[in-house]
Amino acid sequence: MKKFAIPTLLLAATALVLHFLFVDYNHANETVYFGGPILTMSDAQPRVEALYVKNGKILAAGTKAEVMQAKSRRATLTDLQGKTLLPGFFDAHGHLDLATALYGMTDISGFTHRTPEGVWNAVAQKVKATPKGEWIFCLGYDPILTKGLEPPSTAFLDSLAPDHPVALIAQTMHSYYANSKAFQAAGITAQTPDPSSSSYYERDSSGQLTGLIVEQAAFEPFRAIMQEKLMDSFVENTQKVLAKNAQKGITSTVTMGLMTVNKNILMLYQDLSGEKVKPLHNLIRITGAFPERKPNLRHFVFLMERFSGYLPKPKNRGDDFFRFMGVKLWYDGSPYIGSMYMSRPYLASRYNLEAIHLPPGHRGEALLQPEQLEAAIRKYQSDGWQVAIHCQGDRAIAEALGAFGRVHQEAPLNARRHRLEHLLMLPYDQIATMQEMGISPSFHINHILYYGDFLQSDILGPERTQQLLPVNQFAAKQIPFSLHADQPMYEADPLSLASTAVNRQSESGLAINPAEAVSVWEALKSITIYAAWQLKMESKLGTLEKGKYADLVVLDKNPLETPAGAIARIQVLETIVAGNTVWKK
Ligand SMILES: [Zn+2]
Ligand SMILES: [Zn+2]
Repeated sequence: MKKFAIPTLLLAATALVLHFLFVDYNHANETVYFGGPILTMSDAQPRVEALYVKNGKILAAGTKAEVMQAKSRRATLTDLQGKTLLPGFFDAHGHLDLATALYGMTDISGFTHRTPEGVWNAVAQKVKATPKGEWIFCLGYDPILTKGLEPPSTAFLDSLAPDHPVALIAQTMHSYYANSKAFQAAGITAQTPDPSSSSYYERDSSGQLTGLIVEQAAFEPFRAIMQEKLMDSFVENTQKVLAKNAQKGITSTVTMGLMTVNKNILMLYQDLSGEKVKPLHNLIRITGAFPERKPNLRHFVFLMERFSGYLPKPKNRGDDFFRFMGVKLWYDGSPYIGSMYMSRPYLASRYNLEAIHLPPGHRGEALLQPEQLEAAIRKYQSDGWQVAIHCQGDRAIAEALGAFGRVHQEAPLNARRHRLEHLLMLPYDQIATMQEMGISPSFHINHILYYGDFLQSDILGPERTQQLLPVNQFAAKQIPFSLHADQPMYEADPLSLASTAVNRQSESGLAINPAEAVSVWEALKSITIYAAWQLKMESKLGTLEKGKYADLVVLDKNPLETPAGAIARIQVLETIVAGNTVWKK
């Protein structure tokens, strides 16, 4: 007896440890959905009566009789009671890390404050409520939506906050303002050299800092401080952002150019979304550094190119729930701060000349040399990664396609499904080139909704504005494209994106290139199956077909039978990833 006692005890202890290391949340089991419109988003069979889900996958889709026949006796029956079931939505291009960093910051956006007084009051309130010396970051500075908002000088910000370092982040995320205390704390003086001619600290005629900081490299010292401060609440805020996205029906989120990169963050993301729990992660969980595991959104990650060292070997790229996709490069910037790269100059408007001080004739510039871009494409193409390039202006898009084209001549790019991001000014004469190489577009469509009027009146003028975002050049031919909100720039809300692609109107009702409006069906495909295709997940996600994952969204109305003007107001009632509910109203 004694002989066995120790091995038995050891075995028991080992079993206990093993159990603990692999313990995970309970997965949902078997359900049949019926009793409401079920839109599969598959052209072959757009609508079915019922869906049978088991162990996270769709085992049957068809008539109610067929599905009832296929189900086991243990399956629960879910009557949709007239509500609509669709594949879960994709957030095709967002910035989870930035949205997390900005979560809970003082909101000074034009979405919330329509007057300058409202904006400066919000800052003053925050100053009052914050202990002296502590940093204050405010988010969403937007002279476009907040009419009459004048750029704040350092002196003005000092008068609002003499004892706090304060930094304002523009809604576009391409420019910033800081007060004296903030410049001091970041170690920036009037003598500090600018990182480049396109990313700099603006100076007045006497060489003093005005307070304006343009583009990312110049903001880097401030961002580092921000990140350190926000690391304390990083885990909690990451969960909050994912939960917010789940409420909008998102089941797959794409981080397009992760900037906040270290091993711990990548491990956290993998723990939050990955298919199976990792023993190491359960050990970390004991320390409280990781939250309790629960069903979550899928997460697909493109790293900012300069962090590409964090890409694993392609064979270790991840599972169907958390996966590395490749890298993102920035070829130009934003239309609202003069960093969009165009063939013709910005409009000579008061905003361009006086508010953001663009020199007359300014047409932006590339952030990279075409040769650099070409070399990067060649490298990642041969390493097996997807390349996504931020380009907004017509010139940026043409040059990026030129770089792709030179690599394409050596070996066709099509299979890789490289991407162009935003594409505000995608020129009609470049579309065929793009399609020939299989370069896939993701459109920043809500520029129309929020800034359409301003693009026309102050940035580009009517002629160019009425050529923007030619989405139907893809939709009409059923060539995959996606739509994105660029969270945190705009709220990640796929139905709002689909609505804009269908309606092509700004909030005030101005029509922007209405010939490029797409059908509701194609708009819905762009936030489901087409977005899945861009991630090479079209055989597993994006439609409700037998064998695919049960990523689902329950809506209060059928978008196909809703007036176009009301699509954005359709309510998401439940969001399901691989059969598990991640959010329910
Ligand atoms: Zn971008
Ligand atoms: Zn982006």
